[in-house]
Amino acid sequence: MLQPRPGASPRAHFSRKPATALLASLLAASFWAGHPMTAEAAEVAVEIEAAEAPPPQTYEVPVTAIAASTAMLTAERDSVEITWRSPIQWPVAEGSPIGNGFGYRGNVCAGCSTYHLGVDLFPGYGAPAMAMADGVVTAVSSNGGWGSYVAIEHDINGQRVNSLYAHLIPGSAPVVPGQFVEVGQTIGQVGNSGTTTATHLHFELTVGGGHVDPVWWLRTNIPADPTL
Ligand SMILES: [Zn+2]
Repeated sequence: MLQPRPGASPRAHFSRKPATALLASLLAASFWAGHPMTAEAAEVAVEIEAAEAPPPQTYEVPVTAIAASTAMLTAERDSVEITWRSPIQWPVAEGSPIGNGFGYRGNVCAGCSTYHLGVDLFPGYGAPAMAMADGVVTAVSSNGGWGSYVAIEHDINGQRVNSLYAHLIPGSAPVVPGQFVEVGQTIGQVGNSGTTTATHLHFELTVGGGHVDPVWWLRTNIPADPTL
């Protein structure tokens, strides 16, 4: 509210009012022109001022709207999270059952090798087989024993590592030879093609050209999650 300057006349004060108030003020002023403003005139001015006072301005925001906006802010805040992706991971969902291990084994089936060059993992039929590290696809093919398979070459700390994913569902591989794949990328679906007694992923690893126990190698080389 504008306050009249000290010593300013009431008329100067009226001139600050909205047009309707100004008109009323002028009418009142002209009525009393030539006369000193009386107490009655001041009363009229006060009444006009009261009538022209703007209604109280209050804005009511529904509590539900506040709750919704708060929830949205919370969601936005929670979406900013620290994510860490291991450069090496299991080729199937972590915790999937592990069957036949690496090394010598009995003749588990006609045509099955007695020296198991990989490990058998059982995530279930159709489960994604995932690249265990960044790499380049070197083969998407099939043969009698492995069935439908994918092979990937990796450079891990300067060392050449090759991974093989066998017994996939034929035609399930969404990759082609020469394609770069990222760790965790789906490279096929676990099936039972080839020489196998049950649905599983046969997973092999070679380091510098020599076969290693994939379970041992993964457990040794997958770094601990620093965000946990
Ligand atoms: Zn196997």
